[in-house]
Amino acid sequence: MTTILFASPTDWPAYAGPLPAALASAGIGARIVQPGEVAPEAVDYIVYAPSSSLQDFTPYTGAKAVLNLWAGVERITGNTTLTQPLCRMVDPGLTEGMVEWVTGHTLRHHLNLDRHIVNPSHVWDQTCTPLARERPVAMLGMGELGRACTRALTALNFPVTGWSRTPKDIPGIPVLHDEDGLEQVLRQAEIVVTLLPKTPETENLLDARRLGWLPRGAVILNPGRGPLIDDEALLAALDAGQVGHATLDVFRIEPLPAAHPFWSHPKVTVTPHIAADTRPSSASNVIAENIRRGEAGEPFLHQVDRARGY
Ligand code: NAP
Repeated sequence: MTTILFASPTDWPAYAGPLPAALASAGIGARIVQPGEVAPEAVDYIVYAPSSSLQDFTPYTGAKAVLNLWAGVERITGNTTLTQPLCRMVDPGLTEGMVEWVTGHTLRHHLNLDRHIVNPSHVWDQTCTPLARERPVAMLGMGELGRACTRALTALNFPVTGWSRTPKDIPGIPVLHDEDGLEQVLRQAEIVVTLLPKTPETENLLDARRLGWLPRGAVILNPGRGPLIDDEALLAALDAGQVGHATLDVFRIEPLPAAHPFWSHPKVTVTPHIAADTRPSSASNVIAENIRRGEAGEPFLHQVDRARGY
């Protein structure tokens, strides 16, 4: 059985050790090849990064699944040459990374850490900050990552309210839906975290009208996808003081162009899409488990509903 890795040049050495080891411990004898090593029709599974050179899946007539290395799938869901099941990456290592990024940036704003870190005038400012229990957080997206971040923030006593497409029953965490729910979530949020996929329904979700629902000075953390937020509306809301700060990890165009106003805006922090990377050591186990399932005729884990877009 043959698995091909279509990814970035650095991914091959990163997976060369962990992936064969994970397959072996799942009891699978698989040959792992790089592009060009075998005829496309001989490939059984495609381990895939959407940024790779493979965009036409037509020649891969024997492939049983495409196993995405990324959590986000918006660059592949519309590919009409892809007829096989598509699975997205849910990787414990990636989730841990996202929890750390969201918790770190939440605490930065909650504790107003910049006030003491950047203090050129040596101001002795002893203003007391509220406790976490007094700082409501909105978690837009209650999937793998939103739920993990919610657990971490609630462990620190932040009152988190979630928002998702479908109902969730999470003890102690209200999760709202639809437009009315979104308005309710945003109206009370001092910190908003966006962990939604990019789909036609979520594009420009945070537009001028919805940014206007936030309490004045609220902070936005966007590690989801750039198009979730209307850039122009966000800049206007920052300039007007409606939004106090935006910490953005993802952008409509990446790398963020040098002339983009986000780079120089005093109320914007840019991080270069580093919130959460797939970790080969843990992701290899997820890939191996899905190949095992494929071979055993069992349902794949994390299969994408392409019509839904995530
Ligand atoms: P997930 O498990 O698929 O969860 C997505 C969540 O979004 C679900 O709660 C879903 O609702 C909700 N949702 C989708 N469409 C919606 C809509 N129209 N209205 C309301 N809620 C909606 O995805 P995940 O693993 O948590 O990842 C979330 C996103 O994070 C990814 O798609 C990717 O874009 C981003 N990401 C970024 C990085 C980074 O480094 N910056 C790394 C990994 C992932 P239901 O629960 O009702 O389905």
